[in-house]
Amino acid sequence: MDSSSRCSVIIIGAGVSGISAAKVLAENGVDDLLILEASDRIGGRIRKEDFAGLSVELGAGWIVGVGGKESNPVWELACKSGLRTCFSDYSNARFNIYDQNGKIFPSGLAAASYSKAVDSALQELRNQEAKLCGHFTASEPPSSPKTPIDLAIDFILHDFEMAEVEPISTYKDFGEREFLVADERGYEFLLYKMAESFLFTSEGKIVDSRLKLNKVVRDLQHSRNGVTVKTEDGCVYEANYVILSVSIGVLQSDLISFCPPLPKWKMEAIMTLDVIVYTKIFLKFPSKFWACGPGTEFFIYAHERRGYYTFWQHMENAYPGSNILVVTLTNGESKRVEAQSDEKTMEEAMGVLRDMFGPDVPNATQILVPRWWSNRFQRGSYSNYPILGAKQTFADIKAPVGPIFFTGEHTSEEYSGYVHGGYLTGIDTSKALLEEMRGEGERKEESKKFLLEPLLTGLTESLTLTQKETVSRLRKWDNSRPLVVQEPIK
Ligand SMILES: Cc1cc2nc3c(=O)[nH]c(=O)nc-3n(C[C@H](O)[C@H](O)[C@H](O)COP(=O)(O)OP(=O)(O)OC[C@H]3O[C@@H](n4cnc5c(N)ncnc54)[C@H](O)[C@@H]3O)c2cc1C
Repeated sequence: MDSSSRCSVIIIGAGVSGISAAKVLAENGVDDLLILEASDRIGGRIRKEDFAGLSVELGAGWIVGVGGKESNPVWELACKSGLRTCFSDYSNARFNIYDQNGKIFPSGLAAASYSKAVDSALQELRNQEAKLCGHFTASEPPSSPKTPIDLAIDFILHDFEMAEVEPISTYKDFGEREFLVADERGYEFLLYKMAESFLFTSEGKIVDSRLKLNKVVRDLQHSRNGVTVKTEDGCVYEANYVILSVSIGVLQSDLISFCPPLPKWKMEAIMTLDVIVYTKIFLKFPSKFWACGPGTEFFIYAHERRGYYTFWQHMENAYPGSNILVVTLTNGESKRVEAQSDEKTMEEAMGVLRDMFGPDVPNATQILVPRWWSNRFQRGSYSNYPILGAKQTFADIKAPVGPIFFTGEHTSEEYSGYVHGGYLTGIDTSKALLEEMRGEGERKEESKKFLLEPLLTGLTESLTLTQKETVSRLRKWDNSRPLVVQEPIK
C-alpha cells in the first residue's frame, strides 16, 4: 500500500500488542491494514541481541505467570513454538546477599530484614488506603531502610517482588512460576510466528508490503472522517482508524503530535503514569569465579547506595559454560549508567564484583549495556500504575479518542508491564475496533435507509431518524471521558 492510498486501519508500532492487534483484524477480514514501525525490526521491547556468541534478551526475558489455574497465553505460544525456556528459582536470592567485604549475610539477618521491609511496605499501603478514603489522621510513617542489607532488600522487594506485598493479577491468574527464554531465535520468535499467520513471508522474513519498517510517525491529524498519518520521511498515509501501540514513555514525549490535540483528561492520565527503567547489563568473562549449583543463580550485593549493582544473575542454568553474568539496574541508576561510557560502567561493575569475590576476579572481556531510556521509540521499559486508586487513570489511558484507539501493555488493567499484557490488549483493542466498525457500518446503512425513507413514508418520521443518527454520532465522537465508579477498598 503506497503513501497516499487510504486503508481501513493503520497500526502504529510492531511490538507484541501491535502484531496481536493486526492479527485479530486480519482474521476478521480487515485485510487492508498497514503497520508502521519506527525501527528496522518488529518486536519492540522484545529484543534479542548476539552477545559473546549467544542470543541474549535485552528487553523482556521471562514468561511471567506460569503454573496457575489459568494458562498464560504467551506461555501457550511459547510451548506451541517449541521455544527453549529455563525455570527461574528466585527463592534463594535473599539468602545470597554479599556485603562489601565478600561475606554472605547470615540467613537470620536477611530474613529479619526481609520481614521488616514487608511490614514497612504494608504500612505504606495502609497509609495510601487511608488517604484515598479521606482519613487524614496522622498515620504511622513506614520506617525507611538505612543499612546496606535493608536497602538491598527494599530494592529487591519494590523493584522485583511487589507481589509479596499486594498479590498481582499475573500471579493470581497464571501462577507464580517464571521461565527465562533461552533460545537462539529469541523471545521475538513468538512475534514472527504470529505475524506469519497473516503477513507474507519468505525464508523466515516478512516480505509483506503491509508492514513498513523505519517509518517514524510524527503527526496524527484526526477527525470523524478518519486519520492522516505523517511520518518523519515525509510520507502521508490515510485510514479510517488508527491503533496506536507506542509505549507510555513515547506518549509522554513529544515524538508524536496530535491535531486536534488529545483532550485534557487523556493527557493528564498519560502524564500520571510512572515509567520504570529496567536495565540488564551483560558481562562476559574468560572464566567463572562465582558459585554455581542449586540456589545460586541469583545473588545480591548490599551497598549503602540503594540499587547500586544490587541484583545479579549467572547464566549457567540457561547457557552452561557461557561465563556470562547479568546485573540489573533500575530507574535513577539505569539513567545514570545510560549517560556514561560502557568502559566506566564496566569499571564500576568490576569494582562491585571484586568486593564480592575478591581482588583476583578477571576483567570482563565484553559488556552490553541496553539504553531503553535514551531510545526515543521507547523512553523507558514499562509502565507502573499506583497500587491503589488507578481505575479512572486506566480507563482514561485506554479510551479511544475519535478514530484513534490506544493499545499496549500500559492499557492493560490487570497485566500492565508484561508481554502477556501487551499481547492481550492488542486482541481486546482490535475487538473493540471491530465492534466500532460494525456499528459504523450499521449507522451508514441506517442513513442510506433514511435517504430513501422520506420518499416512502414522509417527512415526520425521517426527522426522527436524523435526530437518532446525530445523537449516536455524538456519542461516538465527542471525545468524552469514560467515567469509572471507584470500587470500595477492601
Ligand atoms: C528491559 C526490559 C525487561 C522486561 N522484562 C520483561 C519480562 O521479563 N517479562 C515480561 O512479561 N515483560 C517484560 N518487559 C515488558 C515487555 O517487554 C513489554 O510489556 C511489552 O513487550 C510491551 O509491548 P507493547 O507492544 O505494548 O510495546 P512495544 O514493544 O514498545 O511496541 C511499540 C512499538 O512502537 C514503535 N514505535 C514507537 N514510536 C513510534 C513511532 N513514532 N512511529 C512508529 N512506531 C513507533 C516501537 O519501536 C515499538 O516497536 C520488559 C521490558 C523491558 C524493556
